[in-house]
Order: sequence, then C-alpha cells, then structure tokens
Amino acid sequence: MTAGETDPLQLILDRVHARLQGETERGSVADYIPELAHADPGRLGLAVQLTDGRSFVAGDADEPFSIQSVSKVFTLTLALGKVGDALWRRVGREPSGSAFNSIVQLEYEQGIPRNPLINAGAIVVADVILAGHEPREAIGEIVRFVRFLADDDSIRIDPAVARSETRTGYRNQALANYMRSFGNLHHEVDKVLGVYFHHCALSLSCRQLARAGAFLANRGRLVGGGHSVVSEERARRINALMLTCGHYDGSGDFAFRVGLPGKSGVGGGILAIAPGVASVAVWSPGLNANGNSLLGSRALEMIAREAGWSIFSG
Ligand code: GLU
Repeated sequence: MTAGETDPLQLILDRVHARLQGETERGSVADYIPELAHADPGRLGLAVQLTDGRSFVAGDADEPFSIQSVSKVFTLTLALGKVGDALWRRVGREPSGSAFNSIVQLEYEQGIPRNPLINAGAIVVADVILAGHEPREAIGEIVRFVRFLADDDSIRIDPAVARSETRTGYRNQALANYMRSFGNLHHEVDKVLGVYFHHCALSLSCRQLARAGAFLANRGRLVGGGHSVVSEERARRINALMLTCGHYDGSGDFAFRVGLPGKSGVGGGILAIAPGVASVAVWSPGLNANGNSLLGSRALEMIAREAGWSIFSG
C-alpha cells in the first residue's frame, strides 16, 4: 500500500456498512429490559482492532451501547484469575443448546450451569467475583478491569439500564434463587444479581469493545503495551468457550456462518476474535430469534469472509 491509498480493511468495513445500512429487515430490539427498548434499530457500528495496533471503524462505531452479555467474557476472565480451574467445579463448559435464560437444565444438572456464558453461568461467575467484597467493590473491580483492557477511563455503567433490569429481572432472580437452593451461590441472591445486572449495563462503543477484547486475539496480551492479561492457554480456552457457547442456542449457526469465536449481547453488540489477527466489535440493536444481533451477525459474516478470517481455514 502506498501513501494516500485506503487500507483494504477500511474498504471492507465501508463496503459492509454501506451494504447493510439500508437493510429494512433488522430484527427486533430487546424490550424485556424496558430501558433497552429505547435503542434505535437504525444504528450500525463496526470496529476492528488489529493485534499490530492499527484500528479501523465504520458507521456508529463511537456510539456507546449496552454491552449486556458481552460483559460475561470479561467477568469470566476476572473469575478465572481469582479461582483458576476451581471455577469448573461450579460451572460447566458445554454448549447449552437452549435459550440464554433457560432454567430447564439447572434442575437435571443439580444447579450447575452448563457454561459461564449463559445467564445462570454468569451469575455464578458474579458470585465468585463477589467473594470477600461488597457488591459496590466487586462492580468497581469489573469496571476498572474493562477500562484497563480498553485503555479508556471514560467507560462507565449506564445506571438507568442497571435499574431497569433490577426492577424487571424476574427470570434471572428465578435462576439465582434456584442455584442458591442447590448451594451453588455463596452470597445473597440480591447481592449477586446486583453485580450481574451492573456489569451487563456496561456501556461501550464498538471501538472501545474491540480494544477491550483484543487481548484474546493477542495471546492473552494487551495490544501495544505487551502487558499480559492472561496466559496464552487461558486466552485460547476463553476463545473456545466463546465459539461453542457465545451465542446460546445460535452458537452452532454463528460458527458455521462466521467461523470465529464470538459473544453476543441483547443490546445488539457482538465481540468476535480472529486469533492472532484481530478483535472485531459490531453493534446493531435489532435481534434475531435467538437474541443475537441480526445485522451484527451478518456484518461479521461478511467481514470474516472478505478478510479471510476463519479459525477453520488451513
Ligand atoms: N442482562 C441480560 C439478561 O440477563 C443479558 C442477556 C444477554 O445479553 O444475552 O437477560
């Protein structure tokens, strides 16, 4: 590439954005958390953070949105840092094949959630992070960790979203109470859910999210600084969980179409990892039937194909 030429990756993002921006089929915005119902389905943001330090964006990439379950990747990383493999005595590592907030398997499996990326599993992870702390401190620790990863102290929790889910999170309360009855939550349900609802209410832009997730593409190290966040093996394993469990009962389809580890959230964001190469964040608030961003999934499918990123290609 010579001076003045646009980078091919920027061209890809611009093309994908232009192709999808005019789409009329955009899915439905989540409204079971009332505050999320205000999101504008017309929004579409794309951001790529390369492991070599360069980044590219298109569309609404600097608009903060509610990352919801994408935050589970960061809390899982924190919890593994605290208790290591002992986490796997309380949470499984298998795809659930059921909805993000399903309670069905918990009864058969004695209160042990299938994996840390469904709601029940992430609630156990929140319980682990809460150990020895008050909820406020645990929430502070999570926010500081995400700010550190993204190298951006402006990242914050949206209090209106956290309040909205605290008022209406009946299903998560049921999951948490059920697990507590099996002894798989060690703290009071209200405190654990306080941590969970607040980390789900983290507000990041695509640019910030791609940067925060980049350690997973960079063998566990921060891009640029070289600082190690997790070991290379742990980064690989978190990526494996994202691939198999990151899109709930749509995980197989996401792996088939995109071919990258990814984690979605009902705010319409998705973080995807091209190991060794890039971290990609996309956002479009309309969801498909599995609760994953409809246009976000399509955008990732197109970006991965055009850039030649798939963990399955030789
Ligand atoms: N806070 C949301 C819930 O617990 C997260 C779900 C998601 O983003 O998939 O319902």
